[in-house]
Amino acid sequence: MDIDPTKYDPPSGLLDERVILITGASDGIGKALAIACARLGAHVILHGRNTTKLEAVYDAIVALESAQRPSIAVLDLATADASAYQTLAQSIESEFGRLDGLVHNASILGQRLSIEQYDAGEWQRVIHVNLTAAFAMTQVLLPLLRTAADPSIVFTSSGVGRVGKAFWGAYAVSKFGTEALSQILANEHEHSELRVNCINPGPTRTNMRLAAYPAEDRDQLPTPDDVLPTYLYLLGPDSRGVTGQSLDA
Ligand code: NDP
Repeated sequence: MDIDPTKYDPPSGLLDERVILITGASDGIGKALAIACARLGAHVILHGRNTTKLEAVYDAIVALESAQRPSIAVLDLATADASAYQTLAQSIESEFGRLDGLVHNASILGQRLSIEQYDAGEWQRVIHVNLTAAFAMTQVLLPLLRTAADPSIVFTSSGVGRVGKAFWGAYAVSKFGTEALSQILANEHEHSELRVNCINPGPTRTNMRLAAYPAEDRDQLPTPDDVLPTYLYLLGPDSRGVTGQSLDA
């Protein structure tokens, strides 16, 4: 890798004509990334569970000069079943015939408790939304990704997805699993055009970070826009051949 992805300066038109699905595009990093991708020419599919919030992101993109009109995909990752994922894949296939980028960004924090105190139902919810849903969505979208000329999958990890820490419970376990899922997929596709990588955004000023560290001075934290260069690098053609990596944003 000759380029430092954290300092990547995306050229205008970087993502022209690319169809990119971003999960959890209604808020935080996913929202900022969706707007940035649209600004760089992508047709963005905004995934989330809250239609009102997704429509606000849609409006922000439509207001951009010469951005492509995005699509909205409402799907609650906590409850979506196999047919909901199939419907999503079919609608992308009939509208675009391919998928150039898939960013697994949606996650929930869950409880900040010791393993001894952790609620079993909450454990399952967090593992399901953060990890199992990403598996299910990837599985159904792989054929459309393979149809693209330069496809890229980006997973979102965390510092606690690399080193386990007290009181991070199911969230940390889900992120370790996400790192594994990313590596397995990268290895399975090492002889294809598809690249698969993982990003740890690091501390970022979002609602999730506020929930995890309520007493922290938010103004000191990087904003969602600050962490985007690594994502944009991995989604565009300059990262061709980069796969199986876990990068910091
Ligand atoms: P936010 O809480 O701001 O955004 C999370 C997004 O995920 C929202 O769009 C949310 O939707 C969506 N989401 C949550 N649950 C579901 C669900 N059941 N179905 C569909 N969508 C859902 O988080 P961040 O922007 O901070 O986090 C983005 C990613 O970065 C996550 O994977 C997180 O783990 C990771 N990360 C963040 C760090 C940080 O400091 N912020 C540090 C390390 C990693 P809704 O708007 O409806 O709530």
